[in-house]
Amino acid sequence: MRYSALSLLRNAFSGHQKWPQAWRKPHPKPFYSVVIVGGGGHGLATAFHLARDYGIRDIAVVEKGWIGSGNAGRNTTIIRSNYLLPGNIPFYELSMKLWERQEADLDFNTMVSQRGVLNLYHSDAQRDGYARRGNAMRLHGVDAELLDEAQVRAMAPFLDFDNARFPIRGGLLQKRGGTARHDAVVWGYARAADRLGVDIIENCEVTGLVREGGNITGVETTRGAIFAGKTALAVAGNTSRVASMAGLRLPIESHALQAFVSEGVKPLIPGVITFGAGHFYVSQSDKGGLVFGGDIDGYNSYAQRGNLPVIRDVCEGGMALMPMIGRIRLLRHWGGIMDMTMDGSPIIDKTPLPGLFLNAGWCYGGFKATPASGLCFAHLLATGAPHAAARDYRLDRFARGAVIDEKGQGAQPNLH
Ligand SMILES: Cc1cc2nc3c(=O)[nH]c(=O)nc-3n(C[C@H](O)[C@H](O)[C@H](O)COP(=O)(O)OP(=O)(O)OC[C@H]3O[C@@H](n4cnc5c(N)ncnc54)[C@H](O)[C@@H]3O)c2cc1C
Repeated sequence: MRYSALSLLRNAFSGHQKWPQAWRKPHPKPFYSVVIVGGGGHGLATAFHLARDYGIRDIAVVEKGWIGSGNAGRNTTIIRSNYLLPGNIPFYELSMKLWERQEADLDFNTMVSQRGVLNLYHSDAQRDGYARRGNAMRLHGVDAELLDEAQVRAMAPFLDFDNARFPIRGGLLQKRGGTARHDAVVWGYARAADRLGVDIIENCEVTGLVREGGNITGVETTRGAIFAGKTALAVAGNTSRVASMAGLRLPIESHALQAFVSEGVKPLIPGVITFGAGHFYVSQSDKGGLVFGGDIDGYNSYAQRGNLPVIRDVCEGGMALMPMIGRIRLLRHWGGIMDMTMDGSPIIDKTPLPGLFLNAGWCYGGFKATPASGLCFAHLLATGAPHAAARDYRLDRFARGAVIDEKGQGAQPNLH
């Protein structure tokens, strides 16, 4: 059934009791052309694009919990394409264009809201850095505007402009950036993939990778072995764990990232605002809660929860930027596991093991990448060649010294 005003009206007459299930709950078959491990946004988007754009429909997405139980359902939902390096800008801009037509593509309201992303600057040097970033974006056809202090004051008068340590001098604005509803993105891809014949198998943990000779030919799971022509990993924070089942060591560390939501208040924050002098960013959900976050935890972990020092650091950042946030009550906070690469940029590539493909290293920025990641990974799986927009996301770039160090702050995940 297509979602439409008419279907909404028709179902209203039956008290909304007769909506069909959005996706099936199939049992795993013994063999698929492609098995995708990980039912987050990236795994599901890959399945959707494989089925719709490349005609491969014999696909299973296996997920150890429920779909969206990982980072896809835990992030702060920011989408943007305000990158600096040529390896990144075309990929993230492709993603932004796919966000712009996603609701039509999926027949699902993913609540894409282009309310703007504003990165604040606090010094002349930082302004110059943002001017360079904005120019790089514009050279690639991406929208960017460098705002002065008066323009930022008009947009967000509640900020602490005259903070003695971190006075706000202006900001870099990407108007087409914004937010999307993370759960809806997962559900939209799941429903669209399911309608194309993809089996989405929840509560099915991969416990091993099947090896025949040097090849990977499937997965061992808690629901039995599933054989596959191609096995594709999209397990985000668990990448190093699952890859180690095949004896692969990757340039990835896992760290927790936390986020917070406050009680609901009246409309206050116009878009997404990031503090340029510390780790803090904030937006406001459609329900009114302030959604904010900051830095990753400083040590490696696979636990989906964070620690108190980072909570304190985030709250200090919030207080420095907008002191009134100290009066608001915190409703919830939570954590997810980040797959941090050593240069802060992702990997979409074959692995040295024939039959095994890798989509990983999204760090804390993979939600915005979901549509393009799905498209580019599907392209690689279907054709065996990298998609033009993701051609620099090779695994061997670390060995070749061809890293894409977006922030230029060094080869340590805790510095990105
Ligand atoms: C607090 C927080 C805030 C963030 N904010 C943003 C943001 O504002 N903007 C942005 O762009 N990005 C953000 N991110 C990052 C973004 O959420 C991730 O980069 C992205 O979601 C990762 O891709 P995914 O959706 O496929 O991952 P996931 O949703 O984590 O999917 C991986 C799936 O693999 C499953 N899995 C793992 N191991 C196995 C196994 N052995 N067998 C079967 N299944 C397995 C997991 O259960 C999980 O569902 C944030 C992340 C967090 C935690």
